[in-house]
Amino acid sequence: MSDCIFCKIVAGDIPAKKVFEDEDMIVFHDINPVAPVHLLAIPKKHIASLAEATPEDAPVIGKLLQVGGRMAIAQGCTDGFRTLVNTGRVGRQEVYHLHIHFVGGPDVLPPMLKR
Ligand code: AMP
Ligand code: ZN
Repeated sequence: MSDCIFCKIVAGDIPAKKVFEDEDMIVFHDINPVAPVHLLAIPKKHIASLAEATPEDAPVIGKLLQVGGRMAIAQGCTDGFRTLVNTGRVGRQEVYHLHIHFVGGPDVLPPMLKR
């Protein structure tokens, strides 16, 4: 996906503040953080969103959650954090390369959604 910004991070064509990388995935700091800790975990494979994920993608999606959680703790989220996956128009997804947000820091986060 030549026009995908996260594929460009995977390819090393644009920089990212990486905290983890292996053959399957990368975890890096969000460029516009909403909290003191804001990491993104992405698969190296271009999967446009959770809506396009196939059964073959399930192992790497599980790995994104597990490794991303470890990285959030390593970055200081020792008392908890929030994971978010925005999908499609209704989910207000901005970057169409599947990513899991890990958000946290010292303070308690606001409610997930307004009731
Ligand atoms: P979403 O609305 O879930 O698609 O969020 C996309 C996220 O990607 C936003 O939080 C952006 O700040 C973040 N983002 C966009 N471009 C970059 C980049 N080059 N490096 C790191 N994070 C980025
Ligand atoms: Zn991509």
